[in-house]
Amino acid sequence: MKEIYTDNNATTRVDEAVFQEMLPYFCELYGNPSSMHFFGGQVQKKIDEARNRTAELLGAQPEEIIFTSCGTESDNTAIRSALETYPERKHIITTRVEHPAVLTPCRNLSKRGYRVTELSVDGEGRLDLDELRSAIDDNTAIVSIMYANNETGVIFPIEEVGAIVKEKGAIFHTDAVQAVGKIPLAMADSTVDMLALSGHKLHAPKGIGALYVRKGTPFRPFLVGGHQERSRRAGTENTSGIIALGKACELAGRHLEDENTRVKAMRDRLEREILRLIPNVRVNGGGAQRLPNTCSVAFEFVEGEAILLLMSEKGICASSGSACTSGSLEPSHVLRAMGVPFTCAHGSIRFSLSRFTTDDEIDTILRELPPIIHRLREMSPFGRESLTKG
Ligand code: PLP
Repeated sequence: MKEIYTDNNATTRVDEAVFQEMLPYFCELYGNPSSMHFFGGQVQKKIDEARNRTAELLGAQPEEIIFTSCGTESDNTAIRSALETYPERKHIITTRVEHPAVLTPCRNLSKRGYRVTELSVDGEGRLDLDELRSAIDDNTAIVSIMYANNETGVIFPIEEVGAIVKEKGAIFHTDAVQAVGKIPLAMADSTVDMLALSGHKLHAPKGIGALYVRKGTPFRPFLVGGHQERSRRAGTENTSGIIALGKACELAGRHLEDENTRVKAMRDRLEREILRLIPNVRVNGGGAQRLPNTCSVAFEFVEGEAILLLMSEKGICASSGSACTSGSLEPSHVLRAMGVPFTCAHGSIRFSLSRFTTDDEIDTILRELPPIIHRLREMSPFGRESLTKG
């Protein structure tokens, strides 16, 4: 069975051109880029090219890019660096809807003497900037607020957030793991100090990420040891991964327009038709500005996991808004923070498209999904009622 892959916010397929670009760096050009000899030097040149390509996608300078192992490392590094830079400041601001790569380190720090403010969101997943204005003070070391949400695709007003943060002299970090490659970014004119990205979300392999650090931003490395990455991230470079990320960034730049026209049109059609064909459905974050590829829909009175399993039998891959912890099915922290009613949060499904998604695949989803929801609702007493309500 050929898969219909609409789970691109979880991870993406490596682009064939990216794969070809990285291949020679395993068995042929395997030199260490730090070596003095020509053999390492040619790898170093290719790393420089990857840094230029990554910077270009962000509208940044090459020296502002530090390669890391993943988005999680980039997020952790940014938070740690800010706290080491301002040891006298004991306050961190983040939001309730961050990815665990930010939320978990912040919550751990709250047990170690830091005050952590988690900003709330409204029913559409939007921030209240006044809440940020009243939370931030001279004791705030870092504000870490994501660019775009991985579950709903909701985009936060990052530049407005940054302007507020600058007034208090705190460091502004944004987790842009879901935004990079999907929407245009321009770091040169931005209020962002640090920005995290991850290769496997933009058609590069897993195990490579980057942290953008604005020139002049004080920085303390997380990994110390060798002098790689200008002593900002020790450890022999993941050369093939870095080269792959560079190529993926170059391609993402070229496909940005396609992402915001063709991919967005497919997402909009999927959403519109689901709402037309199936009763008692809502789009999570539908009233907010969103990424062009992401669609989170709540089917009332059904379990998201049941929908996923039945779709999976038809070859359709998506993901649910629930996390299965120790046998109990908890709705996601993002949907709970948005106040999505329990009966909807449990039946929430995220479809995340990519440039490899086709119209035919959207047609198949629209053909297979309505009978699946109908069947599941028929099996539940609340669901049976909903079938007639419309
Ligand atoms: N931040 C966001 C918003 C994400 O969606 C993810 C991955 O899902 C991460 C961080 C973590 O990235 P990585 O898997 O590269 O560690």
